[in-house]
Amino acid sequence: MANQFRLLGAYAHPDDEQGVSGLMHKYASEGVDVTLVCATRGEAGEIAPGVNATPENLGKVREDELRCAAEKIGVNNVYFLDYRDSGMMGTPENNDPRCLWQANLFDVTEKLARIIRRHKPHVMLTFDANGGYGHPDHIQIHRAALMAYFVAGDPRAYPEQIQREDLPAWTVSKLYWGAFPRSRFEKYAALAKQANIDLSVPLKEFLKRALPDEVVTTKIDVADYVDLKLSALFCHASQQNPNSIWSKIPQEIRREGLKVETVIRAESRVLAPQGIETDLFTGIA
Ligand SMILES: [Zn+2]
Repeated sequence: MANQFRLLGAYAHPDDEQGVSGLMHKYASEGVDVTLVCATRGEAGEIAPGVNATPENLGKVREDELRCAAEKIGVNNVYFLDYRDSGMMGTPENNDPRCLWQANLFDVTEKLARIIRRHKPHVMLTFDANGGYGHPDHIQIHRAALMAYFVAGDPRAYPEQIQREDLPAWTVSKLYWGAFPRSRFEKYAALAKQANIDLSVPLKEFLKRALPDEVVTTKIDVADYVDLKLSALFCHASQQNPNSIWSKIPQEIRREGLKVETVIRAESRVLAPQGIETDLFTGIA
């Protein structure tokens, strides 16, 4: 089915797209052109036990894992910005001159603006200002995506892209940030209590990442795509650590939490609808 709309997600690591994999799949299925930008290859992350990867080849392994997930989701265009993963805040990886955290923000923005001008998305997705939970790469891609949202449509920004690369300025209509509402984790807690499962440790971690429900502007129903989301998630084998907080949630409870994806409409050049929005392209002609 052909569709005139285009969507672009700007993220930092392979697997960051998982919070929006259902909506990306939904829109791709409807014919929306979906572009996924990943700034690093996640090479500073931990390797899940039993996975055939080393710190030396982890970037390549994770690139392949992201391409696997992107194919399942139906992403049309995948880009890596070739920065190094900055690791968690306060670690020595933060000081590597090749890492995203050390990158010149104008350079990151220029790369994003080029991709925006090439693919002309109507809607962009990225992390919130805290990068979900404070990861430096998430914060940095948030900043670059916000800057690119504002300048990609301005012909004074990166004029060489327009003149030499034949990429005219393009104005994105809306920018969304990821958001995990507190109610989602409260639902996990309630389901766990019913099943007599102790989730207190992972929930404490989750609640640090949760935002008040009131800030969520947009809820996308992806209940039909829970299996697809999980199969895309499992492409990221090197990140499926059995000791992670996510892995501690029983499957049936986890599936409940995957049925709706929530985001915040942070910037919009079109009139906002009344109440909760259920479609990212609402208001765009
Ligand atoms: Zn990440």
